[in-house]
Amino acid sequence: MRRIFSGIQPSGELHIGNYLGAVQNWVKLQHQHECLFCVVDLHAVTQAYDIATLAQRTLDMAIGLFAAGLDPERAVVFVQSHVAEHTELNWLLNTVTPLGELERQTQFKDKAQRQESVPAGLLNYPVLQAADVLLYEATLVPVGEDQLQHLELMREIARRWNARYATGAGFALPEPQALLSTAKRVLGLDGQTKMSKSLGNTIGLLDPPETIWEKLKPAATDPARVTRKDPGNPEICNIFTIHQGFSPAETVKLVAHNCRTAGWGCLDCKRVLADNMIAALAPIRERAQALQREPKALRDTLRAGAAKARAIARRTMAQVRRRMGFLGEAEA
Ligand code: SF4
Repeated sequence: MRRIFSGIQPSGELHIGNYLGAVQNWVKLQHQHECLFCVVDLHAVTQAYDIATLAQRTLDMAIGLFAAGLDPERAVVFVQSHVAEHTELNWLLNTVTPLGELERQTQFKDKAQRQESVPAGLLNYPVLQAADVLLYEATLVPVGEDQLQHLELMREIARRWNARYATGAGFALPEPQALLSTAKRVLGLDGQTKMSKSLGNTIGLLDPPETIWEKLKPAATDPARVTRKDPGNPEICNIFTIHQGFSPAETVKLVAHNCRTAGWGCLDCKRVLADNMIAALAPIRERAQALQREPKALRDTLRAGAAKARAIARRTMAQVRRRMGFLGEAEA
């Protein structure tokens, strides 16, 4: 059994892109490994954000995670800012992280070029990610292709810290390995960009049936299907990708056939998808509604998750501080 760490931003809404791309896999992993899953609110403040709704968005994301199937008895689920050791280790790892490596990160370059004034937090984002994982000595990190560069940097940071502070036997930071996601990436309903709440192109995991259908109806498909008689290519259609996440294998085959032969129109195809999605998401919505009725129990669960995470984090930090030569508080 390996230890796994992964995090998700508190966007408030867990959407089907997050679900099919990551969270569905987390639900499986919690039965196979020791898992820590975190709502990464400290990462969320590296860009402009709405202060008034951050706390509620964090709670809503936690509701989405539990409703989707994360079990607090099996996995440690918590809020990043509730475990202060994340920021402490982040600072210490900053001291061994080469600036050039941070500046070379593709995600940093993409985000930085869209801003007039670039906050240092955006540059150091991958160092906080490294701290998130190394704090728990996690050895596996579920990632998509787009996160591989950050994972490689994480490994480099661990190597550099170890080379300087973990010479000889005893404690060392393990270099985590990628657990590459096999899920096909779901695009937003525009079929152009990634699914993201800020881009308004999502279907929420908790959306009611009528909203799901209203959102699916105008969603982008293969542009070759101008009329019902034009055959299409399901491989380039985002609706087909979503079918693969929610429809049974037989239906997926039928969708591909009917698309290629113009056996049905895109609206027929979307109606079948809507019905399968609505059926699959109904129990998740029900669990979410039950959690929403018990806000105190939800906060208690998150507090208990943070306590378990903190116990591991404190053990790691005691070793890190000792290796780095700090005066222990008890010795002062
Ligand atoms: S028939 Fe279905 S898979 Fe084919 S283009 Fe239309 S929506 Fe996409």
